[in-house]
Amino acid sequence: MVVLGPRFDSVHLHQNIIKEKKKMKNIKLWEPIYIENSKLPVWLSKIAPIEVWAFSFAFWVCCRGEMSARTRRHEAIHYQQQLEMLFLGQWICYGICWLIGYAKYRDGAKAYRQNPFEQQAYELDDYEDALARRKFWGWTKYKI
Ligand SMILES: [Zn+2]
Repeated sequence: MVVLGPRFDSVHLHQNIIKEKKKMKNIKLWEPIYIENSKLPVWLSKIAPIEVWAFSFAFWVCCRGEMSARTRRHEAIHYQQQLEMLFLGQWICYGICWLIGYAKYRDGAKAYRQNPFEQQAYELDDYEDALARRKFWGWTKYKI
């Protein structure tokens, strides 16, 4: 017999299934597919102005190691930003914002931190309910 402990009994399992079903119905709460222990962020760091720990691209998030809950929320916010701008729109706007930031600060890392998409993600990733708190196109309120 296998003893799974109190959080794995049938009641908790059923509650988790209900929670997951609710999440699936609300597009605002969708999360990407997380890929941990990936080499992609290492390679990306060679061309990026910052040391990349994790990055979000379309339906996937690649991470160098194990992802903390905060990193998952941060990347899930980027996933939502991409979803609401049909991916391509977000990639173009993200790039334009970074270029404007770079022209303004002449510093790649600062241009990254001042990017409105990053400002929104860093502001919300502390909250467990970050996705629920995030406003549709909320990144537009931040200044580069
Ligand atoms: Zn970010």
